[in-house]
Amino acid sequence: MDGAGAGWSSERVIDACAARGYGGIVFWRREIGSRAVEIGNRVRAAGMQVAGLCRTPYLVGRDAPRDEADLCASIDMAADLGAQVLTIVTGGTEPGTKGVIETQKRLAERLAVAAPLAAAAGVSLALEPLNPMFGGNRTCIFTVADALAAADAAHAPNVGIAVDVYHVWWDRTLAQSLAAERGRVLGYHLCDWLENTRHMLLDRGMMGDGVADLRAIRRAVEDGAGYAGLCEVEVFSAEDWWKRDPAEVLDVIVDRFRRYC
Ligand code: ZN
Repeated sequence: MDGAGAGWSSERVIDACAARGYGGIVFWRREIGSRAVEIGNRVRAAGMQVAGLCRTPYLVGRDAPRDEADLCASIDMAADLGAQVLTIVTGGTEPGTKGVIETQKRLAERLAVAAPLAAAAGVSLALEPLNPMFGGNRTCIFTVADALAAADAAHAPNVGIAVDVYHVWWDRTLAQSLAAERGRVLGYHLCDWLENTRHMLLDRGMMGDGVADLRAIRRAVEDGAGYAGLCEVEVFSAEDWWKRDPAEVLDVIVDRFRRYC
C-alpha cells in the first residue's frame, strides 16, 4: 500500500524471493506501473512464476467505474505480466439498493462483460469472497458458497474463486462448499486471524500467530476442491510485519509455512 510495506523495488523483491526458493509472486497493480512485460520476464528468469495480479477495479457498488477502461487496463496488465489469474474484489452494495441480492444480480451482468474480455487475453478471473465486515463498500460476496454462485452465474469457464484464510476461516460450511465444485479455486491466500484483531484491514496475523485452522483450510482447498497452485502469503500488517526488515519477514514466512500450513 502507498506509504507502507517493504519499500523495496520489484527487482529486489524478486531476487529475495528467488534466493529463498519461493515458487512465485503475486503483484498489486501499483507495483507494476508500465513495466509489466519487463517485470514478468524478470520473475520467470529468476525461476519463479507470476502467480497472479491484484486486482480489477470494483465491478459493482458506489465506487465502481462507469466504463470498462480500468477493467481492460487490469486485464492487459495481467496478460503482459504473464499472470494467469486476475483477482476480483467485487465492490459493495449498488447505490439506491439495500442488502446484496440486487447487487449480486448486477455482478452477474458485469461478469458477463468482464469474462470474455479476460478470456481473449488468456486471463482467468478469481472472485474473492470477503469477511462480512467488508460488506457495504467493498464486497457483495461473503463466503466461498457466495463466490461459487457468482462464478456459476457468469457462465464462463475462465471465472473461478480465490480463497483467503482471513476471509473464510470462520465458515463452518467451508469444506463442504469447496468439495461441492472441484476445479474452481484459482488462488489460495494465507495469513492468520489474530485473536484480538485491532484493525479490520491492516492487522492480519502471520501464519501460526492466530486462531485459524490453517491445515484444515488447506486440506479443504487442495484435497477437497482440487487446487494444485501456489500458496500465496498475504499479510497486511501496518503495525507489525510491515515495520520489520523485509528479508526477515521472508525468512519467517518460509519457516511458518513449513511448520503451520
Ligand atoms: Zn486475499
